[in-house]
Amino acid sequence: MVCPVCGSDDAIVLKNKLIDAKSKEIRELLLKCGECGSVYKERLTQDKPKPFRLIISEHEDTHKVSIDLYPDEELRVGDFLMSELGEVKITSLELPDEKRVQKAIASEVKTIWASSEEIPARFGVSIDLHGKVASFKCETDRDFKIAVDDIIKIDKYVARVHVIKTEERKTTKGYAKARVIKRVYAKPVKFNHFDYDLSKFIVSFKPLNK
Ligand SMILES: [Zn+2]
Repeated sequence: MVCPVCGSDDAIVLKNKLIDAKSKEIRELLLKCGECGSVYKERLTQDKPKPFRLIISEHEDTHKVSIDLYPDEELRVGDFLMSELGEVKITSLELPDEKRVQKAIASEVKTIWASSEEIPARFGVSIDLHGKVASFKCETDRDFKIAVDDIIKIDKYVARVHVIKTEERKTTKGYAKARVIKRVYAKPVKFNHFDYDLSKFIVSFKPLNK
């Protein structure tokens, strides 16, 4: 959008009309130059959104759906999309030759792989019992925060968090939100008080192993 009189790209939109053509969307704009005040027309053409294959994982379940995107839209791993099953995060982009890439133009992509952002976060909790480990799976709100040194209660254990393993790293300080936590490691302490009780969030547990 450049003024044909003075060359400035500073303009305000007076009218904005969308024309629906066969495979294109044509936008007719009536613009007024912010510099010299000239009024001019501009036409923008864009391919219409098309359906793309989207596979959404929700923990162990997967759902195949389709999502309408502009073919020239750039997609990246980590981007969020609004699907018919709510918000999802792109985890992988698969090309027709089955190669997986970090970014691509939508029209080049065969399948978009994503994980749901709508379901509760699921993470493991390991209680170190001197050689044996009590292992639990918990589900919480995605924004639930766990910090190193938190005193947690889970089942019959009261324990101090000493390591938090996230999707990207293991940390021995600070906190993480449940949405990125893979596993929390904790050691029993001889306290009766605790910061919070994770027992009600347990979805499964493993018997004590060696
Ligand atoms: Zn102008």
